[in-house]
Amino acid sequence: MTDAPKTTADTQVDTVDARSTRPDPAAHDTSPRLVGADSELSATITDPVFEVTDVAVSYSGTPALKEVSLRVPKHEITALIGPSGCGKSTMLRSLNRMNDLIDGCEVTGSITYHGENIYAEDVDPAEVRRRIGMVFQKPNPFAISIYDNVAFGPRLHGMTKNLDDRVERSLRSAALWDEVKDKLGQPGVALSGGQQQRLCIARAIALEPDVILMDEPCSALDPIATLAIEDLMRELRGDYSIVIVTHNMQQAARVSDRTAFFSVDMDNGVRVGELVEYDLTQRVFTQASDDRTEAYITGRFG
Ligand code: ADP
Repeated sequence: MTDAPKTTADTQVDTVDARSTRPDPAAHDTSPRLVGADSELSATITDPVFEVTDVAVSYSGTPALKEVSLRVPKHEITALIGPSGCGKSTMLRSLNRMNDLIDGCEVTGSITYHGENIYAEDVDPAEVRRRIGMVFQKPNPFAISIYDNVAFGPRLHGMTKNLDDRVERSLRSAALWDEVKDKLGQPGVALSGGQQQRLCIARAIALEPDVILMDEPCSALDPIATLAIEDLMRELRGDYSIVIVTHNMQQAARVSDRTAFFSVDMDNGVRVGELVEYDLTQRVFTQASDDRTEAYITGRFG
């Protein structure tokens, strides 16, 4: 590892620096440099939204993710990056118990959300998913009107007071209101791909979550729609804690405050995902401490 600038990283860091208006966590972080699964970075996050401890995940007995420990800070954007199959989506889904919906999926270890074990027996998974919303790779609006898409979740949860206001607020927060305010009765599926994804974000926001998980939210979108979603993420960041899975490293560099890099290791002949490095995004992209991270971000594998 040298201090010499790397071509790819240079570009990305310029972009990171250009994020400009919001505070740079690195500027406030005087912690000693140490990264990896037992990152001291995690130790500096004293009031995390998630505390993940030794979380391992398997599907029908086949391990997919080795013990992961990390803390996710409040009101920041945390990116999970790494090559295909390294367990990013598996990790993300374990944060709101979406893995419960997959037959044969077993999650061990502990995940607390604001200090509470989300896997405790008396916890209602539906309430977990209301507080910790999710936006998927492919925009998936329901085949109902724009208004009803946003109102769907609140109606399901009995949050029907001032529903019009809630729908408007959610659409405004998702930067979609101006484009749809005159056609709320039209089908959500008639919107463009980027608008549909913002509609899905509005649908998540309508449930007043405090975390939004995003699983490759831009991978089905064109570059302009992608930038609109990235702008939106930056706007939402102050009000929500966001965890995003992306295979687009430039995107991680552009939008995230912290980055967790996962890779795949062979374990008894099985490919298993593991957390390699977790640090401030700027450091991951300029001074990766693990050779695998550096190889990945400089495009040498993945
Ligand atoms: P990534 O998001 O990094 O591409 P995933 O979390 O999707 O990785 O996958 C990690 C591993 O878990 C892979 O080996 C994948 O085949 C396996 N896996 C993911 N989802 C399922 C599932 N629903 N059923 C069985 N195996 C799965």
